[in-house]
Amino acid sequence: MPVRRDKKLEKMIAKERISFLIKRAIDYKKMDYHLARRYVELAIKIAERYRVKMKKYEKRSFCKNCLYPYRSDRMRVRIKKGRVIITCLNCGKTRRFKIKSLERRA
Ligand SMILES: [Zn+2]
Repeated sequence: MPVRRDKKLEKMIAKERISFLIKRAIDYKKMDYHLARRYVELAIKIAERYRVKMKKYEKRSFCKNCLYPYRSDRMRVRIKKGRVIITCLNCGKTRRFKIKSLERRA
């Protein structure tokens, strides 16, 4: 008899590990930037492997292109037309986020 996989449990554990790794990445980004990037890399691998979604703040805590966590001296934040524009100064990639509270007011 093959061992049955408890997928719900697997996903739960995967999510826990992801949030732990992202937390570590954020803690370490000022001390060891490369190590922090490695944590992000692992978190993404787990998310892909177990097909779990990252939380919004987790997804937004690192650059999707070069995987380095956003750090105040390696990023630029601008607000334009109700959107937050984040430029990663490692790779130059930009991301845009809508500001939800502004949408509701309009
Ligand atoms: Zn980048």
